[in-house]
Amino acid sequence: MTDYRESDRILNVLTRERGLVAVTARGCRKPKSKLAAFASPFVYGEMEVNERLGKLQLSGAAVLESFYPIRESYEQLVSASCAVSAVAHLAPRETPNDDLFVLLYNTLSLIAYGENDPMDVELCFWAKLFKIEGVAPTLTYCLKCGRDLRAEKEVRFSNSLGGSVCEACGSAFKAVSTLSLEALRRMMLIDVNEMRRVRLPEKVRAELTSLIYSYAEYALDFTVKR
Ligand SMILES: [Zn+2]
Repeated sequence: MTDYRESDRILNVLTRERGLVAVTARGCRKPKSKLAAFASPFVYGEMEVNERLGKLQLSGAAVLESFYPIRESYEQLVSASCAVSAVAHLAPRETPNDDLFVLLYNTLSLIAYGENDPMDVELCFWAKLFKIEGVAPTLTYCLKCGRDLRAEKEVRFSNSLGGSVCEACGSAFKAVSTLSLEALRRMMLIDVNEMRRVRLPEKVRAELTSLIYSYAEYALDFTVKR
């Protein structure tokens, strides 16, 4: 969102019907504004808009969910912010994308109310985002020689090739355990409603965080700022 004039704000809103839209919220920064609660980050709700000359102006809004507990811990806030920024970067303007909408809603909901480590929820968000964006990496065989890698303990991962490479073909690439790749593969496959079951061992979480952020930068042109 961008503040402008004394009390107005332009909101970037992900909608189910039209994808990402820019909406002007007049006067929403005044203390008594009815739009103030809606015009803040991490809010799910319904809005009424007027459209004039292709510009949307917010005339009314109802907050249905504010995911309040996200603001209670730094880890939750950072993971939620990462997910929101990635979607804001990738969501098509004026084009609906239901998968993206549902993924973001479930991610915020789980970070706010779930029992999981927020980082596990965030990593699962990324895994599913790669799939939605059509850049799901290869994880089970070598992209150069085709060899099945599932029986190996450690392999290599190449951003530019798009996934796993065997030791012999890719010793210059970053080493990663097949345990982490298997966790990533499962997270890409599960339904959004199953995300609450994700519990990563600490070593896998650390390894996947670095692999996923680096791959997101390459494949989605998005740099994670934490
Ligand atoms: Zn190979």
